[in-house]
Amino acid sequence: MRLRNIPAAKDEISNSPYVVHGEKDYKGRWMNVFGNSNPIALEVGMGKGRFIMDMAELYPDWNFVGIEMYDSVLLRALQKMDDKNAKGCVPGNLRFLRMDARELPEVFAKDEVAKIYLNFSDPWPKERHAKRRLTSRQFLDRYVKILCPDGLVEFKTDNGPLFEFSLEEIQASGWELMTCTYDLHHDRKLAESNIMTEYEEKFSGMGNPIHKLIARP
Ligand code: SAM
Repeated sequence: MRLRNIPAAKDEISNSPYVVHGEKDYKGRWMNVFGNSNPIALEVGMGKGRFIMDMAELYPDWNFVGIEMYDSVLLRALQKMDDKNAKGCVPGNLRFLRMDARELPEVFAKDEVAKIYLNFSDPWPKERHAKRRLTSRQFLDRYVKILCPDGLVEFKTDNGPLFEFSLEEIQASGWELMTCTYDLHHDRKLAESNIMTEYEEKFSGMGNPIHKLIARP
């Protein structure tokens, strides 16, 4: 997802109290950002942020970091936070980073992250772009460098080829596949606790079944 470039986005992001700047300085010290030692969950490629905002409200005993690489997209999430602020319901356990997830090991220390959510990640269908997929072995190696023991990756998509690729990469990287469904919304146990993302609403509304896996290194 790449929205029209909005010239004022950079200024708004720089001035936002919800965005952490100089993120590499916090490696190993994220506890200080949140002022507590609650577990940290990331959403990599959060888009406009609906999922992570809902999660932060539902799970106040966790800390959440939404990661997005495009200013124009992050800006949409910040606008939603301003709306929440106006209603007096901003979750204090949520921050955002404008960064490329390739740099994750420079931003978080080993054992600092308990969960990584990947929702409707870009499929990068060309083979020569496979390493850009957020479930590629190159990205799984990055996640190993920041996850704690028993840390998990949860991945949802409606894209069949990307899901199959992800299952292969998980196996090739020696990760343990803990949960796998090809139809999340009709899986009674998993559907109950499912929190929808913007893309999920759109694609499931078109009749596409949603696939989900949970894996750990
Ligand atoms: N997760 C949201 C959802 O389910 O509605 C948005 C999905 S959108 C298809 C994927 C998002 O991931 C885009 O906003 C894109 O900019 C972001 N993204 C892709 N690769 C990324 C990377 N390497 N680092 C950070 N964000 C990335």
